[in-house]
Amino acid sequence: MIRYQVGDVVRTRKPHPCGGDQWEVMRTGIDFRIKCLTCGRVVMLPRPKFEKSVRAIVRSNSDDNQTGK
Ligand SMILES: [Zn+2]
Repeated sequence: MIRYQVGDVVRTRKPHPCGGDQWEVMRTGIDFRIKCLTCGRVVMLPRPKFEKSVRAIVRSNSDDNQTGK
């Protein structure tokens, strides 16, 4: 099972109406809050729906980003 963390950037199967398909994870838990990186729109959706809509993780915030903060 994939663990998502705040700060991860994911790509969804279905693009946002604005045309962007990359989202930054802003909150995890029962509900996920994600922000469209193209238009800045914030969307909240339940975890199962989020996991189903993610196609790939573009950038993980877990390991390789520690020095960046
Ligand atoms: Zn958008």
